[in-house]
Amino acid sequence: MTLTKYDYLVVGAGLFGAVFAREAALHQKRVKVIEKREHVAGNIYTEEIDGIQVHQYGAHIFHTSDKAIWDYVNQFATFNRYTNSPMANYQGKLYNLPFNMNTFSELWGVRTPAEAQQEIARQRAALNLAGAPRNLEEQAISLVGTDIYEKLIKGYTEKQWGQPAKDLPAFIIRRLPVRYTFDNNYFNDTYQGIPIGGYTQIVEKMLASDLIDVETGVDFFANKAHYLRDFPKVIFSGMIDQYFDYQLGELAYRSLRFETEELAIDNYQGNAVVNYTDAATPFTRIIEHKHFEFGKGNAGKTIITREYPQTWKRGDEPYYPVNNAQNNQLYKAYAALAKDEKNVIFGGRLGQYRYFDMHQVIHAALVMAERELK
Ligand code: FAD
Ligand code: UDP
Repeated sequence: MTLTKYDYLVVGAGLFGAVFAREAALHQKRVKVIEKREHVAGNIYTEEIDGIQVHQYGAHIFHTSDKAIWDYVNQFATFNRYTNSPMANYQGKLYNLPFNMNTFSELWGVRTPAEAQQEIARQRAALNLAGAPRNLEEQAISLVGTDIYEKLIKGYTEKQWGQPAKDLPAFIIRRLPVRYTFDNNYFNDTYQGIPIGGYTQIVEKMLASDLIDVETGVDFFANKAHYLRDFPKVIFSGMIDQYFDYQLGELAYRSLRFETEELAIDNYQGNAVVNYTDAATPFTRIIEHKHFEFGKGNAGKTIITREYPQTWKRGDEPYYPVNNAQNNQLYKAYAALAKDEKNVIFGGRLGQYRYFDMHQVIHAALVMAERELK
């Protein structure tokens, strides 16, 4: 059914837009969703190929410690017990991630937490750090020492972000746990898993309502003035600097190129994620999608994706905000403009220019929806 009058226009059918649209429909509001890609679900989009759920925009593992968010997302899919345990390949040798007793033992032959701590303290001393770490390099060396920094962090980070680790904010590396136990779980969260049957169904179910119309292949900017005139309120989950026609300057983003290949073998790398942490390999990681669902898929087939970080320029997909001090300052100036845009609410990874994970996006959308719809 196509509605004739709407309460909201939602720009972007990613997780942020979909959660808001669903909450609004539950409050009897009529919602139109426009999405510039040809499909819904934004970057969590998955597609079944050869019986394998392929994560089309990079590996997505759901994790949270917030029971309410976990219960919320479990309404839309059953999650399996997948625990992310990526391997790192440095110049042909494999190491466990995140940085834990397995990694320390592989690197230095240490057997106890005390031995590992001693070795890291010895390496850290080289840094001569006085105050708090000022950048990613200092933060990494102070957490895990120079050896892990050189082998498992520096090359990967500088490929991923396209700049020296010395110029990047420390918080990026604090995303990864450092553990003095033999535990390869990449996340510390209480709940973790992959939706059986993929992520796209989650967004499709959120949007499945008589009060929501969805149009894909439609760019807000092709008709901005019309949308702002015809809809009482707009929820915008695209790029905030683009919305304001870059009038204060461009925010920085990092883009990616995905190279996907189907191979006529059962098992290519034995793990869903293998990171390539040296500087010479041009990609950061290889994803083997079937391992997110424990090998499910057609026999004799597997699908792998190499992920190549790319410089972002206008028109490219802005996969990551680059949240350094300069960009955060510029974002603040855009956020001030956004405050005066009375009928538009900005949200999501691009609208709020934040390195949000899925659980954080759901949380942000629910908080915003509650404030807006109460
Ligand atoms: P998006 O998914 O980007 O949705 C925004 C939508 O708006 C897009 O579909 C876009 O096409 C559309 N849009 C933009 N501009 C316009 C316009 N002008 N007109 C119409 N439509 C427009 N999170 C985790 O929790 N775990 C992970 O393992 C994880 N891995 C990730 C790996 C990669 C490579 C990336 C890039 C992200 C990862 N994330 C992960 C983060 C996760 O993808 C985001 O938290 C989530 O997808 C953000 O949802 P969103 O709705 O804010 O943005
Ligand atoms: N990182 C690294 N080596 C690795 C994996 C990650 O140095 O093998 C660093 C890198 O700087 C990266 C950050 O840790 O940007 C956060 O990693 P995460 O896996 O959270 O990145 P994302 O999921 O955002 O791609």
